Amino acid sequence: MNSTAYADLQQPLQDVLTHPQTACGDIFHQGAVPEYTQAMAGATNLVVKFLQRNRKPFSGVASTDLKAAFAALDFDTPLPDMESLLQEVDELYVQHATAFHLPAYIAHLNCPVVIPAVAAEVLIAAINSSQDTWDQSAGGTLMEQKLINWTAREIGFSPAADGVFTAGGSQSNLMGLLLARDYYAAEYAGHNIKQAGLPADAGRYRIFLSEMAHFSNQKNAALLGLGEQALVKIKTDSRFRMDAAELEAAIERELRAGNIPIAVVATAGTTDFGNVDPLADIARLAAKYGLWYHIDAAYGCGLLLTDKYRHLLNGMEQAHSVTVDYHKSFFQPISGSAFIVRDKKFLQLLRMHVDYLNPKDEDYDDLNQINKTVTQSTRRFDALKLWCTLRLMGRQKLGAYTETIIETAEKAAEMISLDPALELLSDSDMGVLLFRYAPDHLPPADLCEINRAIKKALFNSGEVLVASTRVNGSFYLKFTILNPLTTPGDIRRILDIIKQQGAACTAAPVK
Ligand SMILES: *Cc1c(COP(=O)(O)O)cnc(C)c1O
Repeated sequence: MNSTAYADLQQPLQDVLTHPQTACGDIFHQGAVPEYTQAMAGATNLVVKFLQRNRKPFSGVASTDLKAAFAALDFDTPLPDMESLLQEVDELYVQHATAFHLPAYIAHLNCPVVIPAVAAEVLIAAINSSQDTWDQSAGGTLMEQKLINWTAREIGFSPAADGVFTAGGSQSNLMGLLLARDYYAAEYAGHNIKQAGLPADAGRYRIFLSEMAHFSNQKNAALLGLGEQALVKIKTDSRFRMDAAELEAAIERELRAGNIPIAVVATAGTTDFGNVDPLADIARLAAKYGLWYHIDAAYGCGLLLTDKYRHLLNGMEQAHSVTVDYHKSFFQPISGSAFIVRDKKFLQLLRMHVDYLNPKDEDYDDLNQINKTVTQSTRRFDALKLWCTLRLMGRQKLGAYTETIIETAEKAAEMISLDPALELLSDSDMGVLLFRYAPDHLPPADLCEINRAIKKALFNSGEVLVASTRVNGSFYLKFTILNPLTTPGDIRRILDIIKQQGAACTAAPVK
């Protein structure tokens, strides 16, 4: 169609759409440009206030106080204007929201976000494409596919690879275990689980993973009808990485017991230690025993972009499927994750046709992404954030951020191990460190309680937010360093605060 004919066709439609009777200031449409612009400016202003005002990562508000502020509100009497709305949101939410961008936030796997991705969120929300079918997204589908192909190439997969953006690592891991289960049944027993349900011997299916693997695997095994009993936890080495010899012994043990090993899940970047399982050794065992090989690189995917540390992921290219969380290690706003398979044929196990959405005779050259998802139909265009990030900043800059983070973590580990008042549990391949306040004069039996008190006091003051976990029954404080702007000086300051708090807690234990 030439452009004149196109303009003619557009005209009557324009008239209908801009008819005064349809004008409405709160529906996003061309009659609401002033309202849209004003609302966006107000929201941006509030964000700027958040940046300029916050000096500590948490206000320290007590949940009882915040709950009281909610009690009086109802939805039947709307606020008079956008300004009052933003003021209320500020008081109820923004003032107490955890500020992940500050160096004193060093708790969980929350990265600071990059600005091109934040700008992309504006487009994602307003244009509101849905990524399930080509007819709801067009260019968005191609952007997503190109980013999936790029990620697959970084992993080391051939052009036969494929994948899809998901809401997070837990969901991507679910897809990994689902394919492992269905692939085994189809390939080795000619049984179609999607249609026929679980086979009689599914109770004997076994999935191997380290004792440090993410808890989502447990939830997922339960959801898949295999039960947590299907998971065989493999012991870890001195750095809390899966021990490959223990893995082989466990596979042999399960075979002797008459069980059916179907998959192994390796973790590239454990949540509690930031360490990478021996991916190549595990690949060899997966091949030897015919197991599906899933790698959970929700956190470790950041290593893909570094030249210096990329070797830690060697062997990843032999996986059947991989989880990557762009919202953990690519500085993306939540949500942004992907599930990638080595060969697109594996995704055929998920395919399902619905007459109203993706009928068989209307597959738009196989561009309906819904053919690749399990637990999502309508789906956000999260890919645009990564697109804007990579096009503006490039792979190298993201990789350099990850290298800076790893170097800061190395220095932090050194500071902790040289400090007589602190005890480091393990070094990290990435940026997670477990340690505790443990000066010589304190009885070992008191350490758990004192470190718990330190964490609680820090949280209540909001000055420094650290995480914690238990290892072999003992309580440890946890640093997750994910901010390239955090300096060794910041770490020094945080450690000093922890020690001061430790001394205070020892003098008068916090209840
Ligand atoms: C965070 C994490 C997950 C879960 O990812 P979500 O995006 O939080 O659902 C899975 N595995 C590992 C190793 C993680 O660190």
